[in-house]
Amino acid sequence: MGFILKPEHEALRREIRSLAEEKIAPRAAEIDRSGEYPWDIQRLLASQGLLGYAIPEEYGGSGADLLSCCIVGEELARVCANSSLIFVVQKLAAYPIIIAGSEETKRKYLPEVASGEKLAAFCLTERDSGSDAGATKTMARREGDTYVINGQKCFITNGGLAKVHSVFCMTDPEKGYRGISAFCVGDDPAISVGKIEDKMGMRGAQVAELIFENCVVPAENRLGEEGTGFVTAMKTLDNSRPLVGAQALGIAQGALEAAVAWARERKAFGKPIGTLQGVGFMLADMATEVEAARLLVYEAAALADAGAPNLSIYSAMSKMKASDVAMSVTTDAVQVMGGYGYMRDHPVERMMRDAKVTQIYEGTNQVQRLVISRALLR
Ligand SMILES: Cc1cc2nc3c(=O)[nH]c(=O)nc-3n(C[C@H](O)[C@H](O)[C@H](O)COP(=O)(O)OP(=O)(O)OC[C@H]3O[C@@H](n4cnc5c(N)ncnc54)[C@H](O)[C@@H]3O)c2cc1C
Repeated sequence: MGFILKPEHEALRREIRSLAEEKIAPRAAEIDRSGEYPWDIQRLLASQGLLGYAIPEEYGGSGADLLSCCIVGEELARVCANSSLIFVVQKLAAYPIIIAGSEETKRKYLPEVASGEKLAAFCLTERDSGSDAGATKTMARREGDTYVINGQKCFITNGGLAKVHSVFCMTDPEKGYRGISAFCVGDDPAISVGKIEDKMGMRGAQVAELIFENCVVPAENRLGEEGTGFVTAMKTLDNSRPLVGAQALGIAQGALEAAVAWARERKAFGKPIGTLQGVGFMLADMATEVEAARLLVYEAAALADAGAPNLSIYSAMSKMKASDVAMSVTTDAVQVMGGYGYMRDHPVERMMRDAKVTQIYEGTNQVQRLVISRALLR
């Protein structure tokens, strides 16, 4: 699929790029250094309608397609991965509600998520259940017209800041992953914040443990039938992984541009280092890998928008390829810049730290390989 974007997608890219360069890029280093959640950027994204970008119009969003979301995510990440994560997580956490919530639940919770008035969180991972989501221990026990949730989730982006949560709980432990059910849980005093993680990268994101202690949720907040939570989680990830791929792609693009600019200016042995074949070939490989990742990300997004039945495999490929490219390209960008690349004065060391998690979250790249190989062998 020789990927040529439609004029409206190109216009969207120009619009988001100019917003990102003007208002977000100047904040990127400071967000990383302070490690504080950037509420100013959250408000900026909300004011631009970007926090409800993927939410259907009838619930207050823009109903944008995934390809458009990927362009936005890529352009934000090109200058500031932390800012792109705000965009990515709001969509990730809203998606289970969009695809499995009752009409009442959608009307109650989605408009405030779409406006950005409330942050949302996707709560799947636990200390003993990361890649193996079937090992979920957080229990939701039915009591009349309610469920009572007890357990702990960890590594939750927006944990402690979010006021709307998509939570995956065991309702029937005998059934393994078929016993998982999803719930929409609002802001509840029965949810407390445990450990707030001190991270390598994405330092402006709050990633925390959430403890559910006798958290009572009305039964109508269950997302779909009992036992369908695992499928809802997987459908959500199929739809979100291209966006993580886009985030990784944006980080790689930013690092590539920084490396090229440096290679033009920096001189060694009397000439710009880019003209030294060893450096020029590195740049050529980096640019080619970035473009290959871009094609996979856009293709996966376009397939999702077309409702393709075999989305999982492309979604996994796009996230895996783009995140591996982000890691290698950011590492090479540091190398091209020599000692300067290692210093915090330049953005590539931040980009290298931010890139790493794209190989880990929303399923590690080993898990993506499992998804792809199982689909091939089926
Ligand atoms: C910054 C950050 C933000 C996050 N945000 C969220 C969030 O908002 N919501 C949420 O629910 N989770 C979130 N996560 C959790 C993330 O999705 C998990 O960390 C990830 O799924 C891996 O789980 P784990 O850390 O338990 O690793 P493990 O599952 O313990 O894996 C350890 C290693 O074993 C490998 N491995 C495991 N199983 C297999 C297998 N079958 N075959 C081959 N290799 C395997 C893994 O690839 C990995 O290398 C976040 C994580 C981070 C770091």
